Amino acid sequence: MNAIDELTDCFARLPGIGKKSAGRLVNYILKADSSWVKTFARQLSELQDKIKPCSVCGCWTENDPCPVCSNPLRDNSLICVVEQPQDAAIIENAHEFNGVFHVLGGVIAPLEGIGPDQLRIKSLLGRVQGGSVKEVILATNPTVEGDTTAMYIQKVLSAVSDVKITRLASGLPVGGDLEYIDKLTLARSFRGRSSF
Ligand SMILES: [Zn+2]
Repeated sequence: MNAIDELTDCFARLPGIGKKSAGRLVNYILKADSSWVKTFARQLSELQDKIKPCSVCGCWTENDPCPVCSNPLRDNSLICVVEQPQDAAIIENAHEFNGVFHVLGGVIAPLEGIGPDQLRIKSLLGRVQGGSVKEVILATNPTVEGDTTAMYIQKVLSAVSDVKITRLASGLPVGGDLEYIDKLTLARSFRGRSSF
């Protein structure tokens, strides 16, 4: 296999990129400015060393704890539970939420072999049992797996504490993804969140 085929295969492994798009990217890189290509390659190879999950919330960060967890102006009594770090980033961009996050790292999906133990649920219980948390907002995606996961967390949380548990609901399209929701809708669904 030559270098073109090898790099094409690398790109084709990325989500949403087929073999054809991968080929186009490789051709773009072949013709691109070589200093940019070197920067790109360096950023790519250093990414995993530079960025780690925050030991508190699980969001990607260069400094541990992350800027949200270490910000004294954030409301630590309010925890927003999301599936992935990128969901927290989307909520941050909507500028509606001043609490802190907890990243699960996925959703309960028995067919894919993902149970509660594979997710960061124990550490969520630990944070809530710390005592200063007043509300947990379950912001998993409005999909079957997201709902199942939210219900599971609601059950285990309410068994160990009397913390208020809410769910982002109104305005979110069923089966949709936080990723595709505009800021306004997201802000509205935060304000209109409902108790379990
Ligand atoms: Zn954090």
